[in-house]
Amino acid sequence: MSRVIGIDLGTTNSCVAVLDGGTPLVLPNAEGARTTPSLVAFNDAHERLVGQQAKRQAVINPTRTIQRVKRLMGRKYRDADIQELGQQVGYQLVEHVNGDCWVQVNGQAFAPAEISALILQKMRLTAEDFFGEEIRDAVITVPAYFSDAQRQATRVAGKIAGLNVLRIINEPTAAALAYGVQKDKDANLLVFDLGGGTFDVSVLTVRGGLFEVVATSGDNHLGGEDFDAAIMAYLLDAFEAEHGMDLSGDAMALQRLRGEAETAKCELSTLRETSINLPFFAVNDSGAKHLTATLTRAQLEEICKPLLDRLEAPARRALQDANLPGGKVDEVLLVGGMTRMPAVQQLVERIFGNKPSRGVNPDEAVAIGASLQAGILAGEVQEFTLMDVTPLSLGLRAKGNRMSKVIERNTAIPVRATKIYTTTEDNQNTVILQVLQGESEIATDNSLIGTFSLTDLPPKPAGRLRIEVAFDIDRDGIVNVSATDTETGNEQSITIEDGSGMSEAEIQRAMQRVGAMTEAAS
Ligand code: ADP
Ligand code: MG
Repeated sequence: MSRVIGIDLGTTNSCVAVLDGGTPLVLPNAEGARTTPSLVAFNDAHERLVGQQAKRQAVINPTRTIQRVKRLMGRKYRDADIQELGQQVGYQLVEHVNGDCWVQVNGQAFAPAEISALILQKMRLTAEDFFGEEIRDAVITVPAYFSDAQRQATRVAGKIAGLNVLRIINEPTAAALAYGVQKDKDANLLVFDLGGGTFDVSVLTVRGGLFEVVATSGDNHLGGEDFDAAIMAYLLDAFEAEHGMDLSGDAMALQRLRGEAETAKCELSTLRETSINLPFFAVNDSGAKHLTATLTRAQLEEICKPLLDRLEAPARRALQDANLPGGKVDEVLLVGGMTRMPAVQQLVERIFGNKPSRGVNPDEAVAIGASLQAGILAGEVQEFTLMDVTPLSLGLRAKGNRMSKVIERNTAIPVRATKIYTTTEDNQNTVILQVLQGESEIATDNSLIGTFSLTDLPPKPAGRLRIEVAFDIDRDGIVNVSATDTETGNEQSITIEDGSGMSEAEIQRAMQRVGAMTEAAS
């Protein structure tokens, strides 16, 4: 088997790793960096820029720079949080024919999976350049709470990028592998992942080599970008106090400030004090105004206190939901660039009483874990059993808009479950099954992941037919549903594979567009 790469497809940054002689190796990209910003941009020359190149020009090209696309994967345009995200990003979101959220740039619409594919392709090319050989097979990570649709969209993104996605694994599971959790040693782990835009907490148990995610929690609206924004607000206030100019509405000034704020924040993870310098930040009648400031670590912690405080509740909730004997975790693993901030590490220690594990770079842990899983699949590493759970309950819409649950959340996967349903009207010859994922008792509050019908039912009084519906969730967390009329043996089945929101023709077109870029670039 040829090399299998492990990819952490992050909201803010992505990373690729591979096992080389049994040791995980994080691969530097063409710019020499070990992580790649998850950004794609289109410029005046109709070129597509990916990674650092896209990040650098985001300031001057906000409407054509696509960031945080992971948040759009497998999501509906009308979802409230997607509408909210649309207000925050500089590019345009559009509703695709099936209600999915796509992005529009230069009058052209793109599925989120196609944008993600450009990032994945860059990761694949990074590995190909490094080894000088073609690479096709990959393991890609996703957050533990990702729904079927989001996992499907990730799979399709891999396909568009020319990858054969051998497995989708959960980010916390990958992190546990990276931290070298020993398979012969049972443990309860808590993965504390604070990235650029999201905060994820997962509790895992490891028993005889089985890695089981037993609880997940977090905050989808909390990450490093919020820390950057808090620093920016602080600096803008100071600037206004000094020069009497309010620049909070000046997009260009804000973009410049954002980069400086992030750099200062990162520096203060190792330094006690840093300075911020933005010459010609603004101009008024009395001439050019420069923004210069010094920021200490103590000031940073003060500014970010409200954000730091918000980390505590989700962390405690995950621990509570996990319901571990003794209520204690053996190890806390830090993941995500933001966990390098000393105040975050101190908070973790205060909440859990454990010193967080060190030794793995938090930016790289997930990709390293993915490469270990890749090694397992390639037969290079001794077999572990990775067991994940389904993050959301699965069921059907029943009479009275009720959710009839068939598989409860946190059930270990792969799993198969069946349930018998019947008709509600006399001589009913068709039943329409709506497959739902979510926790609400009210069907329409959950997300509809697929609809299918069982037709040509024999005429029977209401309630007499027995329709067996079988639900399968595979190792990647992908759902398969079939329904059988037990009398006639008449069967209908669906893989809920329209989750990516793309038809086969759309996928093919995206593959051509993405492939065309490779040729243009080389
Ligand atoms: P994601 O999982 O969302 O893709 P990452 O794990 O790469 O994100 O985390 C990115 C965030 O981590 C950014 O907000 C970045 O500014 C922050 N970060 C990176 N390095 C440091 C550091 N040394 N100190 C503080 N924050 C950091
Ligand atoms: Mg991450």
